[in-house]
Amino acid sequence: MSIEITLLGTGSPIPDPQRAGPSTLIRVGDQQLLVDCGRGVLQRLAAAGGSANTLSALLLTHLHSDHIADLGDLMITRWVTTFTPDPAPLPIIGPPGTAEVVAATLQAFGHDIGYRIAHHADLTAPPPVQVAEHTDGQVWDRDGVRITVAPTDHRPVTPTIAFRVEHADTAGTASVVLAGDTVPCDSLDKLAAGAGALVHTVIRKDLIDAIPQQRIRDICDYHSSVAEAGATARRAGVGTLVLTHYVPAIAPGQEEQWRALAAAEFDGPIELGDDLHRVEVSARG
Ligand SMILES: [Zn+2]
Ligand SMILES: [Zn+2]
Repeated sequence: MSIEITLLGTGSPIPDPQRAGPSTLIRVGDQQLLVDCGRGVLQRLAAAGGSANTLSALLLTHLHSDHIADLGDLMITRWVTTFTPDPAPLPIIGPPGTAEVVAATLQAFGHDIGYRIAHHADLTAPPPVQVAEHTDGQVWDRDGVRITVAPTDHRPVTPTIAFRVEHADTAGTASVVLAGDTVPCDSLDKLAAGAGALVHTVIRKDLIDAIPQQRIRDICDYHSSVAEAGATARRAGVGTLVLTHYVPAIAPGQEEQWRALAAAEFDGPIELGDDLHRVEVSARG
């Protein structure tokens, strides 16, 4: 049994013609888990062969705009493209504050929701969602797939969480950890211990520090550098390190430079690339 990671969006808050906003698709068993829902997520999801109406759950690492930019599009599109009567609500798992953001987003689309309910006889209620807020512990156990969360450190953004997705069968346990935005911290090291893969957001502090605007340089203090993500992968003993959320966007031809920064700290396989890059993670032991 394996878990498939698809980097749907590898971008950042800065709009980029080639990169959608932060979002990662996890296919495990017959479940499809969407982690964060940045700008352009539904177009990338379609390109990956998925859709809003087949998602098993939405997992949110935190409530920064780049990670939730298309939350409204996701909820509305799932609602209007689900044709079964009494559709099951979309589980949304995130840190405290998620319920408020989801409710406010649905309110922002209140006129649209009203138009559609008035127009279509088979749409009688707003988009069904089921929000669960967590900072620690097991949050999902369904058909052999377990998800646990742990707090991360993206202060002053708080609370923020990372997810560990595991699928066990007779061949062993496949596992993937999604760190979100964070500086190195003990709770992430523990959550990621022994995982098959660690998906980590990264910034190039060496490049960002050279930018004249202080507001841009501010972002260095609450993100991991490429080397710091590599060091986290080494401490946790993960199988593969997957880098995403590149700040700044990786310039064409510079992938190996980024890889080398992580490889100075971590000697396992390092995956990085463009949107829709896929990584297959097998069971370990
Ligand atoms: Zn963030
Ligand atoms: Zn971010």
